[in-house]
Amino acid sequence: METKQEIEKQKQYIEKVKQINKGSNLKYYILTMGCQLNENDSEKLCGIVEQMGYEQIDNYQEADLVLFNTCCVRENAEDKLFGKLGELKRIKEKRGTIIAIGGCMMQEQHITDKIHESYPYTDIIFGTHTLHKFPEDLYKTLESKKKMQDVIDIEGEVYEGLPIKRMSNIKASVTIMYGCNNFCTYCIVPYVRGRERSRHPKDILEEVEQLAKEGYKEITLLGQNVNSYLRSEQWKENGTEYKGINSFATLLRAINEIEGIERIRFISPHPKDFTDDVIEAIAESEKVCKLIHLPLQSGSTNVLKTMNRKYTKEQYLELVEKMKKRIPNLTLSTDIIVGFAGETEEDFEDTLEVVKQVCFEQVYMFIYSRRVGTPGDKMTNQIPEDIKHKRFDRLKELVESQIADNNQKYVKTIQKVLVEGPSKNNSELLTGRTESNKVVIFEGEPQLKDKIIDIEIVSEHMWYLKGKHIN
Ligand code: SF4
Repeated sequence: METKQEIEKQKQYIEKVKQINKGSNLKYYILTMGCQLNENDSEKLCGIVEQMGYEQIDNYQEADLVLFNTCCVRENAEDKLFGKLGELKRIKEKRGTIIAIGGCMMQEQHITDKIHESYPYTDIIFGTHTLHKFPEDLYKTLESKKKMQDVIDIEGEVYEGLPIKRMSNIKASVTIMYGCNNFCTYCIVPYVRGRERSRHPKDILEEVEQLAKEGYKEITLLGQNVNSYLRSEQWKENGTEYKGINSFATLLRAINEIEGIERIRFISPHPKDFTDDVIEAIAESEKVCKLIHLPLQSGSTNVLKTMNRKYTKEQYLELVEKMKKRIPNLTLSTDIIVGFAGETEEDFEDTLEVVKQVCFEQVYMFIYSRRVGTPGDKMTNQIPEDIKHKRFDRLKELVESQIADNNQKYVKTIQKVLVEGPSKNNSELLTGRTESNKVVIFEGEPQLKDKIIDIEIVSEHMWYLKGKHIN
């Protein structure tokens, strides 16, 4: 069935469920695990269930519908889900709560088997390729009281036009592609999110133009591997690319032209696909924030090889040099995995050396977690947990010492800050973020919220900067 027809069909199911729920004042609770792509999927789930008449609440014990949007990148996500499911048994017996579980974990057979065995009271299981069918699955559950399992293991289509409830009124995430073709040996994503599929540039531009009309200032483009956007397929209208968009670089330039949008971010690129046209597009697009996330994973060429990352330590450092030369005020963040199979002390020293050399603005550090179904999990030379933790602590110590130095360079500078609202720790103060995503705390009038203003940085603290509003 055509994707447009499929969405129309699901909209009819939304109406049917709405009729069933009419006047019942039903509540839903959603728990999202994992990455920004999952958060964006949850915004669509929220949009769908709210159109079906449910209202969001924060307490799952009082909800009529409990939704879990799962992640399977790290082990602790499984423990979290099973813990919650255990607690829900008693609540379901008392309230008849409908339990629905979606997201990457549901693409793993051993997990859905465990749910059937240990938590048979779960009503709906849906996968990463069938989120759009949630209205139909819920309708069938409500009508037939039957358990629904809607998981397909082939990559699905790209479905446009799903309702969405955005978590912010000033910053929005826009998914530009799904899936990944890279098969890094530690990563489960290609097995649960499928092969790369890019959205039509027309749909992406229309979404961003609509967001600009609604007053959104900051857009984050999402994909497992954004800089391979449109590499595996070309959307052509009557043989011509849509508005000349045929790559990630041309998409960035097109979004940079959209009035009203003031900041463009993107996550996550792959160093091997950071081509010159992308670097040029970043340098020449004033709205593209000059904080670039460039996942390193390891600083050792040996480990990068066993990880199947397709670049070496030297190539990564050359890319960083090229980017620093071409992009003014560039700051970099990265991901690092400590303790991957076969990582020697020398390999780890290489990682520390790259961190010292690049001096990242932010480092997301992870201890390698074996994932069932990945080549990494089958490797024999696994690193003992105590060594992994010792290395993690050494990396953390280095990174934190660099953050203090990095923060120092902000003092006495003027930064453009997008004001998010009252500070969580002190409601007398306002908080916002610089272009390089630094948190800034300052005094100011509440009506500054959602504006981009100039702040003079007066002092630095490990996790935030203190500032003074200057106009
Ligand atoms: S690029 Fe590698 S780490 Fe990233 S999603 Fe793809 S396989 Fe996973």
